[in-house]
Amino acid sequence: MKSSLNYEVVVIGGGPAGLSATIKLAEKGVKTLLIERGRFCGAKNVFGGVIYTSAVKELVSNFPEVEPFPCERAITEEGFFLVSETTLSKITLIKKEKIPQSFSALRTKFDYWLSEVALKKGADIAVKTKVIDLIKNNKGEVKGVVVERPESWENSKPAKISANLVIIAEGVNRILTQKAGLLKRDWSPEEVVLSVKEIIQLPKAELEARLGLKEEEGLAVELIGDITSGLPGMGFLYTNQNSLSFGIGIFLKSLVENKIKPYNLLEKAKTHPYLKELFQGGEILEYSAHLIPEWGLEKLPKLYGKGVLTAGDAVGLVNPFFREGANLAIYSGIYAAETAYYALEKGDFSEKTLSLYEEKIKSSYFYKDFLLFKDIKKNLLVSSKWYNFYPQFLNFVLESYFSSRGKEKKEILKEILKELKKKRGRLKVLKDLWNIFKIFR
Ligand SMILES: Cc1cc2nc3c(=O)[nH]c(=O)nc-3n(C[C@H](O)[C@H](O)[C@H](O)COP(=O)(O)OP(=O)(O)OC[C@H]3O[C@@H](n4cnc5c(N)ncnc54)[C@H](O)[C@@H]3O)c2cc1C
Repeated sequence: MKSSLNYEVVVIGGGPAGLSATIKLAEKGVKTLLIERGRFCGAKNVFGGVIYTSAVKELVSNFPEVEPFPCERAITEEGFFLVSETTLSKITLIKKEKIPQSFSALRTKFDYWLSEVALKKGADIAVKTKVIDLIKNNKGEVKGVVVERPESWENSKPAKISANLVIIAEGVNRILTQKAGLLKRDWSPEEVVLSVKEIIQLPKAELEARLGLKEEEGLAVELIGDITSGLPGMGFLYTNQNSLSFGIGIFLKSLVENKIKPYNLLEKAKTHPYLKELFQGGEILEYSAHLIPEWGLEKLPKLYGKGVLTAGDAVGLVNPFFREGANLAIYSGIYAAETAYYALEKGDFSEKTLSLYEEKIKSSYFYKDFLLFKDIKKNLLVSSKWYNFYPQFLNFVLESYFSSRGKEKKEILKEILKELKKKRGRLKVLKDLWNIFKIFR
């Protein structure tokens, strides 16, 4: 890398947001440089992860008919496992679609594939390169970045790269978003979920047999209940080719307040009889931890400034309830690229011109979903009754329903109602149902 470089657009971060922006800009012939601090795009990145086909198709129109195929398995069964201490009830949907709506993926492979697409379209990518600052002119307009290459530039000084416009797609830790003046302070513990994940390898045939899957079929489920030891959060279990992605995400605030180490939670979850059997003999290939931004609409940063846009997790575009994050990063990257292209054509990088980006985000389907997410978070996501009582109760009902125990059915029903009254109370249950109805009405 030379000590001084000029680009039309510099994109910071080789995750789905940055890579999508880069692909779309390079496609239009814009001189674009993507800067990624990892050894390659995807090297540092973590997700569950399931990715929706529709978003990837926006980038690569012949997806999933692509070579090399960047995903693991088509998701043919998905839903929820409601977990009690010893039992587990499954609510899953089995799908036999021609083109699956989603795929499981590993980021090392998926992000790397996107970077290959970007390179083929003509973008430049600098890996092992960290952006440490933004260059601003005397009018406060962002005009480039300052980078460091700690691993490969022995004794090197930070280098400057100039650009007409910078797109920040740095992920959840929004250091540069703050430097750009788009954000006053970063997240607080009640606004982020800390997720820990293991990739557990099993022989392919064994994995399929244990989950009742055919070759190439995949399962993606969220686990709710005792899996998080009653704390507000969820678990996830997704199938890869010959491994399982298993993880738990809890609001950081709850972990701190309850002095719980997430790794211990994961270890405890793995002792559940169903999971213990499922993972038996499996080899842990990887352990990772990452934050998920769940601050919702009220805490969104400013999306644009003079000569700068921000996309993906840096904005907080995650809707965990519907497993949307990477796909929203892709959409926001595309909108950022479209806005950047419009600004380049006009030769105007003022806030007025770049406000087009906010218009695009605000008229998207997912922005409207965020209005709904606000209520879901308030009424469901942070309230432990949904994690403690209901999953356990459903398991109790099913267990009672399917056990004869030499008792009259009326007696069993009485026991169920007694349990309901003892643990939650009928009025409270009606109130809970009303709250759910209010959210979705
Ligand atoms: C455990 C977990 C499970 C998830 N499961 C799912 C799922 O199943 N489905 C789904 O759709 N979403 C899921 N998500 C959310 C999803 O991963 C994110 O929403 C998505 O990755 C955001 O993409 P991004 O490009 O904005 O950020 P990231 O993917 O975080 O990428 C940011 C990139 O910027 C780079 N970077 C940061 N700072 C600098 C710098 N200064 N200089 C150079 N490079 C820099 C990083 O190395 C990284 O490559 C999950 C998240 C987690 C943590």
